Amino acid sequence: MPLVRLAHEKAIQLQLRRDLVRSVKRGHAWIYAEALRATPKTKPGVPAILLDNRGGREIGRGYYDPDGTIALRVCTTRRGEVLNDVWAAGRMQRAIALRETLFTGDTSAYRLFNGEGDGLPGLVCDRYADAAVLQLDGEAARRFWHAPGIAAWLTDKLGLNLVVERLPGQHPTQTRLLSGSQPQAPIPFTEHGVCFTADLIHGQKTGFYLDQRENRLRMGAYAPGKTVLNVFGYTGGFSVYAGLAGAAHVTTVDSAMPALEVAAAHWVLNSLSEERHSTVCADTFEFLKAASDGAKTWKVVILDPPSFAPNQAAVPKALNAYQRLIALGASVTAENGVLAASSCSSHVSLDQFTHACQEGISIARRQATMLGIYTQPPDHPVPLAMPEFRYLKFIIMRLD
Ligand code: SAH
Repeated sequence: MPLVRLAHEKAIQLQLRRDLVRSVKRGHAWIYAEALRATPKTKPGVPAILLDNRGGREIGRGYYDPDGTIALRVCTTRRGEVLNDVWAAGRMQRAIALRETLFTGDTSAYRLFNGEGDGLPGLVCDRYADAAVLQLDGEAARRFWHAPGIAAWLTDKLGLNLVVERLPGQHPTQTRLLSGSQPQAPIPFTEHGVCFTADLIHGQKTGFYLDQRENRLRMGAYAPGKTVLNVFGYTGGFSVYAGLAGAAHVTTVDSAMPALEVAAAHWVLNSLSEERHSTVCADTFEFLKAASDGAKTWKVVILDPPSFAPNQAAVPKALNAYQRLIALGASVTAENGVLAASSCSSHVSLDQFTHACQEGISIARRQATMLGIYTQPPDHPVPLAMPEFRYLKFIIMRLD
């Protein structure tokens, strides 16, 4: 089966209107429609040759989306490289080799392909032990990449027994079975030796927030003997690490009851005693406000909200929400306690988020010292020339 669907179609030619040659050569993979001379009407996902804005010299190849704001995703800038199955297999093999270096036996779930960050624009794949979930970003990506072929290739290379594709738009998310049989239960896996499960069909994202793996480990370090509050806790990732590190008690808050049920199950799965964990199904803002009004505090507080800014226009409102959240989080953090705040919105920069932390801490009339600023782990690689592709920010502070 092919890996690239339209490899044999004749490539169309697109010429730059703006001088983006250096940016493309440095590895920036996105060409917006406004940067092209013309955006011909054709099928999404067709191969395209990108020509410079002057003499019409070829500078790269990719696939085209006549309807998207990102009109072209550049897949190669190597002269003469053709976007065929040999090219795709080479890129996928390189991505797998990186993960083989990064992960030894105690972590069996990680991002296998991170789209542009692995030179595989629009193609995301998360691995959970012997299962994998594919996600193709947009209609053009879905027509360029051949999902069933990639599933067959992965099954063969990695000995997987299940590959599904997550389809966008629908809620709850729809999935398509690409290889293996429909899973009857969530898939068990380990992360730094900690046991979890991921529901590849109904879970959020592809089933688990793999991007916070290292931050979960980092927060565990602050937990021994402490009370821990994990808000936006989902299936209890941060909670279980804290429990295993010896937290006195952990509270997991989320608005999704099904996620909390799994959080409780994950706690028990790791042989932790149930008296040391409680789950609360509530809206974070209401929960924190009530806790703050009741002068309740925790020694370690973790805030890992969903993206507040889905697009650029939403950024001012999002910054405001981050400030309010951090202020509430600070107000329930004990003296000399640790507060961690995260943002997964690519539209909010690290500077903006750091500023939101400063404002939030100040609203709560506290002072903070920075213990560390972190981002996504190396199985979520980012082209150096594409800072907008680096979305995760994780700031750990000690409060006075
Ligand atoms: N920290 C988690 C991932 C959190 S994802 C981990 O490491 O796995 C964000 C979570 O916030 C989701 O589980 C979602 O259900 C929850 N959520 C979204 N809005 C919320 C709100 N207003 N109040 C409480 N939880 C919310």
